[in-house]
This record gives sequence, structure tokens and C-alpha cells, in this order.
Amino acid sequence: MAQVKNNYQFEDMLQKHNLKKTAPRLRVLSMMYSKNTATSQPDLESVMNDIDRVTLYRILNTFEEKGIIHKVFDLNGTANYAVCHSDCKENHHHDEHLHFNCTACKNVYCINELNMPRLTLPAGFEPQAFTLYASGLCPKCSKKGAARVN
Ligand SMILES: [Zn+2]
Ligand SMILES: [Zn+2]
Ligand SMILES: [Zn+2]
Repeated sequence: MAQVKNNYQFEDMLQKHNLKKTAPRLRVLSMMYSKNTATSQPDLESVMNDIDRVTLYRILNTFEEKGIIHKVFDLNGTANYAVCHSDCKENHHHDEHLHFNCTACKNVYCINELNMPRLTLPAGFEPQAFTLYASGLCPKCSKKGAARVN
């Protein structure tokens, strides 16, 4: 789950990544940090309808390049973005954690609590990133399902 940050911390983050502090960037950051699930561009568009799509697209791209957020795919193959926790650097992500796709609410969760196995590939393969996906019911939805049965 993303830790709660205030606007000063978001400004610091932008500064640390040599990004100019702009209102749209700060809003995208605070929106993404306020959620414990990944966010898709359409999600962001619907809450920030005063920021145009191209601007939003560029912000997400820049954040991804800088190692602030990483891309995850939901069950429909739509790109979602989640905040990075580990020591992600510019053009070098270390988000080797499990991504959980909930089949009911369609949310994507970053599962940082799980230690990833060290995977050894056959000779000749040079992996640059590992992604592990799981799907099923998230805690919220499995609770709802249990309530229905009772
Ligand atoms: Zn990352
Ligand atoms: Zn769910
Ligand atoms: Zn993740």
C-alpha cells in the first residue's frame, strides 16, 4: 500500500527527479499515492477532466521514465500505473513484485509483502524485468462474496 504523503513531499519528489513542479504533475502524484491499487489513464481522466489527455499521457510517461511509477496490465490488457516503492531509478525499475488482478472489481494491486523467487533463465536469455501476475479475488471482494453466501 502506498504511504500517505503531503504536497511538500510530492514537490520534493519532483525536484529530486529534476522535474518542474507543475500543478497537474502534483495532482497526478497525490491521486496515485492516495490509492492502494493501480490507476489507469481513463481513471485519471475521469477525475481530472480539466487536464487534457495529451498532458496526462506525457505526465505518466515522464513519471514512468523517471522511476516514479511503473506500468501494470489489468485483465483487459489496459495499462495501469502504480507508484514505485523500491529503489527505482531513471530508466531502471526494480518492481519485481507480484501483481494481483481482481476478477471482480478489476483492480490491480502491487503485492510488496511477498518475496519473489530468484528465477534463473536458460543460457542466452538476459532478462531486464520480471513480472509476476496472479488473479482472483481481492480482500474487499472476497469479503463481499462470503457475505453473499451467508
Ligand atoms: Zn519502478
Ligand atoms: Zn476486488
Ligand atoms: Zn507494482
